[in-house]
Parts: sequence; structure tokens; C-alpha cells
Amino acid sequence: MLDWHGSGMGVMEMSHRGKEFIKIHAEAEADLRELLAVPSNYKVLFLQGGAIAENAIVPMNMLRGHAVADYVNTGEWSKKSIKEAGKYCRVNVAASSEDRSFTYIPARETWVLSADAAYVHICSNETIGGLEYHWVPETGGVPLVADMSSHILSRPVDVAKYGLIYAGAQKNIGPAGLTIVIVRDDLIGKALPITPSAFDYKQQADHDSMLNTPPTYAVYIAGLVFKWLKKQGGMAAIERHNIVKVAVLYDYLDQSGFFVSPVARADRSRMNVPFRLKNESLDGAFLKGAEERGMVELKGHRAVGGMRASIYNAMPIDGVRKLVEYMKEFEAQNA
Ligand SMILES: *Cc1c(COP(=O)(O)O)cnc(C)c1O
Repeated sequence: MLDWHGSGMGVMEMSHRGKEFIKIHAEAEADLRELLAVPSNYKVLFLQGGAIAENAIVPMNMLRGHAVADYVNTGEWSKKSIKEAGKYCRVNVAASSEDRSFTYIPARETWVLSADAAYVHICSNETIGGLEYHWVPETGGVPLVADMSSHILSRPVDVAKYGLIYAGAQKNIGPAGLTIVIVRDDLIGKALPITPSAFDYKQQADHDSMLNTPPTYAVYIAGLVFKWLKKQGGMAAIERHNIVKVAVLYDYLDQSGFFVSPVARADRSRMNVPFRLKNESLDGAFLKGAEERGMVELKGHRAVGGMRASIYNAMPIDGVRKLVEYMKEFEAQNA
């Protein structure tokens, strides 16, 4: 932290234009490209503003003269994207699972896409509702745009099936402050004239994501995480691990009559597992007991209530086992 590779400087002290940081930045990009097998006709951008800023930046860059964009509404994060995009274009909600409280992903056959959409937007892992696409929607040549904030790097992804992928760093990548955008290069260069230069993908691509000062320390730590992931064996290995890890929790939930899972089986997220106590009056006691055992951040989002275990790459399988042990104990005492 205080002396990077004998340079006498910590990364926080370096100029982002110095040779040391340029190397850190370039290596982070190269490692991310390798991990996700990003094709060479895609730009990898390291930006700022998080996924919520991308909700505006995506339409500003991706409308390309079109008047309408298609959005699939699968929960709280989709809703935010839809609302923000509405400032820049007509939004067609092509499908929604709001009818059943966002507990499933609408089947592709039910989507009603526009004839002239600029792109089709999905949230490929709904963090709050705990839904994940385990398939890539076919959009007939219209660019597919995905908010992957909460499951990027948890599994392999066929980047070529997407026009654009974006993700905030703070779930599976590193510290907050870095936003990753992976975009096919023929889609950029047609941003709305009002687009801030720092949020114009083409301008950022032309400046190697250094049109403005990048979040240098966040890029550095993200780069270390990429190296850690490579050491684990890359995306195929981390996916195998995540499948086993999430099953520890769902196998228990599925046989319990005391805890329930609201999510449709086929659409369960491997990163975010919402669950409820049948007797909601015990929620407080459950959370208090968990905290006493060192397990925190289990309260569900205020939008949906109940409990949620977020088990990103950084959560070891023993952490999930410990949670399940506690749930068993709590069930035995209170059922
Ligand atoms: C956490 C999260 C966000 C939040 O984005 P920020 O701008 O970083 O606050 C957006 N989308 C999804 C799917 C998320 O999980």
C-alpha cells in the first residue's frame, strides 16, 4: 500500500499518467479481457458513476438516432433503469414480472419487442429480488445491453452475444468507485450531443479511459482481484464453486417448512438468495442471533423485506455453511 514494487510511492500517490500507473491500468484491462474472453472488437472501459449513472449514460450513447429502447422489467434495478432511460427516449417495457412480485424472469416468447429499438436492456442479475438469467435472450440483431453489476465474474459470459455490458465494481470486482463498460466498437461514436465528454464511450475509448482521472486505487485493487480470479482457475472454476456454494443454502431452504424462498427455481441467482421466515414476527430475533454469531448484512432490502444472503465471489463456502447451521438451529428452537 505504501510502496508499490519499490517505486517509493503508493498507488494513491501516483500520477495516473506516470508509467507505473499506466502499467497497472493496462494489466487490469488485459486480465479482465482474458478472464471474460472479450473479443478484440469490444472496448473495455474503466469509468466512474456506477451502474446508476449508466442508466443515463447507456441511452445517451446507445440510442444512435433511434427514438425507442426496449427494457425488460424484472425488479428494483430494472425499474430504476427504465425510469432514467425515459428522460432520453421512449421506453417500451417489452416484458415484466411485476404481476408476481418479481419472482421470475419472463420467458422470451412473451416479450413484445419494438420494430425499431436502439437496444434491448436487461438486468441479468436482480440483486434485491435474487433473480438471474441462466440464458441469453435472442434479440434478432438488436444490441443486447445488460446490467451485470451483481454477478459479473461469477460465471463465464459469451460477450459476443451482447452489444454492451456494464457493472459497478463494488459487488464482485473491488472497491466502489470503478464502473466497467464492455461495448462493441461499432456501436460507439454516436452519442447524443448533450453527453458529457467523460461519459462519451467513444471519447473515453480514444483516451484509454483516461479522459478524466480514473479511480486509480479502485482500478489497482480490481486488478489484484482479476489476478486472484485467474489463480482460482478463471470463470469456469469460479462458476463451479458458486454452483456448489449456492446449493448449500437452497438445498436447506427447499426442505424447510420454516423458511421459504420466493424465487422461481429456474431463475434463482447464485449471488443473492432472498428468503423469509414463515412467521415474520421472528425476523428480528433471527437477525439478532445471526449478528451475535458474526453474520451481518442479512436483512432483506427495504423494498422486499425478509432476509437476503448475498454470497458474492468473496464469500467462502464455509460462510454459507455457517449460516445454514444457524438456520437449522433457529428452526429447531422456534418451529
Ligand atoms: C448495486 C447495483 C446497482 C447500483 O449501482 P451504483 O450506481 O453503483 O450504486 C445497480 N444495478 C445493480 C444490478 C446492482 O446490483
